[in-house]
Amino acid sequence: MNEDTSSASIKSNNRRLELETPKFTIKINLPKQPRSKKKRKAHFELDIIDKLIIEPRAEWNMMKEYSIFKHGEIAFERGEIVEVKRPGNDGTPGERKEWLAKVLEVKADSPHCVYVRVAWFYWPEDLPMGRMEYHGRNEAIESNHPDIIDAMTVNSKVDIKEWDEEDEEATFNGYYYRQQYDYLSGQLTAPREFCICERYYNPDTRIVNCPGCNIWMHEECIIANAVKRHKKSSLTAKIGDDLKPDPLAEKGRKKGRDKPKKSTSKPDQNVAAVLFDGKIRIKEIIKKGDDDSDSGLDADTIIDEDIRCLKCGIVVP
Ligand SMILES: [Zn+2]
Ligand SMILES: [Zn+2]
Repeated sequence: MNEDTSSASIKSNNRRLELETPKFTIKINLPKQPRSKKKRKAHFELDIIDKLIIEPRAEWNMMKEYSIFKHGEIAFERGEIVEVKRPGNDGTPGERKEWLAKVLEVKADSPHCVYVRVAWFYWPEDLPMGRMEYHGRNEAIESNHPDIIDAMTVNSKVDIKEWDEEDEEATFNGYYYRQQYDYLSGQLTAPREFCICERYYNPDTRIVNCPGCNIWMHEECIIANAVKRHKKSSLTAKIGDDLKPDPLAEKGRKKGRDKPKKSTSKPDQNVAAVLFDGKIRIKEIIKKGDDDSDSGLDADTIIDEDIRCLKCGIVVP
């Protein structure tokens, strides 16, 4: 169906998406202005037609404008987000994702020469700053990176939703986007901050809501907190042990059923935790000294605790 895609050459230049149609080139006419680095929220204007220099301009202007273009049986409308064939992809499983773009303008001078002015979406790895830890597997970023592409390079429509992170009921299955990348300033809008750590949320990971103060907490922050608490409490226990009489001093005098303790060597204790069935399961792994050959079975301790809010402290059901 797309045998004619070679008529438009699309190439990726490191993390920038560059595209040339055989007919039209596009440049951005930017008035010189000082860039403010302090700006926290990027200004974002999706359609930057008034800043574009399209060559040859006369031909572009002369073409008739349409609100729909057809590719086989599929009709694509202005405003829709479409998948654009990525050069080099030939249908092999596991190859790179195709590109996504929003259709802003459709022009044609004949049924065989249809051109689409688009604004590209970025995959996180295509951003100049690269993929961030909060970017999910199915995440894309809306941008105003402009191009004019041959309609033959459009593959299909795309199931992609804009995710409003303030909407607590929001659900989506396929692709989604929540950020905008302003091609003119190189700035990316900031996602919502979550948790006591005030970092962003990767929807491929888990967050837990507190019904008391309504904060959302990262699973990893709940776990890190539990691990820290248990490391602290085991340290307290260790100090307590040191206050007891040194068992080495009593060697030979008193050998009851108690396991001998060797206070001169510190037990190497590791604490791990997971969220399990609405609780935190904490596992304390204690590596004892070599002379403790009988204690292999009771070296690990497993404790199930309620999940408590990291902010207000109530038990989270
Ligand atoms: Zn956190
Ligand atoms: Zn709370």
